[in-house]
Amino acid sequence: MTNTATPNSSTEITVNGTRLSVSANHSLIQALWKTGHPNFKSASCLEGVCGSCRIMVKYDNQSAVNMALACQSKVEPGMQVIFPQYLEKESTALLNHRYRLQLSSESSEQLKTIFPEAADCRHCHGCTVACPKGIDVEQGITLANEGKLAAAGDLFINCVMCDLCTTSCPENIAPNYVALFARRTTAVNQPTPTNLARRLQALQRGELKIKY
Ligand code: SF4
Ligand code: SF4
Repeated sequence: MTNTATPNSSTEITVNGTRLSVSANHSLIQALWKTGHPNFKSASCLEGVCGSCRIMVKYDNQSAVNMALACQSKVEPGMQVIFPQYLEKESTALLNHRYRLQLSSESSEQLKTIFPEAADCRHCHGCTVACPKGIDVEQGITLANEGKLAAAGDLFINCVMCDLCTTSCPENIAPNYVALFARRTTAVNQPTPTNLARRLQALQRGELKIKY
């Protein structure tokens, strides 16, 4: 995709059905922020925290609609964008998993208890297609189901927890939360590096101050 806009020029795009004139030569999130549009007055990444601003995007000369992240998508003339609704975390059982991490010999069994639906993966590929970070989400679920939790967790190293894989799963599996469990349980079963252990102990004794 080639952007022919000159520096400081503006271009027309459609966002959630509304035509907007935005600054070209910027990422979508920067361009929207510059418009002063109420929905984009505060972009959390501009304050240091990723807001997982996932989009559905269709470019002018393409028929396909792709999933992407607004911060990683450059403004292109005529692009059409939708910001899908987020799942309500408080009210969605899908996203509420409470557990205490256990030792590795029990982790696979724990996975089956916490995420029994993961075993129902039908390998439809929907989660992988939906992922704006290009993660092979389906493979991650397969590995987790095989008890290969470290390998599963490693696949999700670039996950931004946008929940698109969860939204797209017909079996109500929350792959990113399965991955979070896999990474947590892997970490808790690894020995803490000596230097880090000393620092944590010093922190607990009040010998180190945290500066905000
Ligand atoms: S939450 Fe799912 S779709 Fe989003 S980045 Fe992570 S793996 Fe990909
Ligand atoms: S969308 Fe759900 S059922 Fe389909 S491959 Fe991904 S985890 Fe499996």
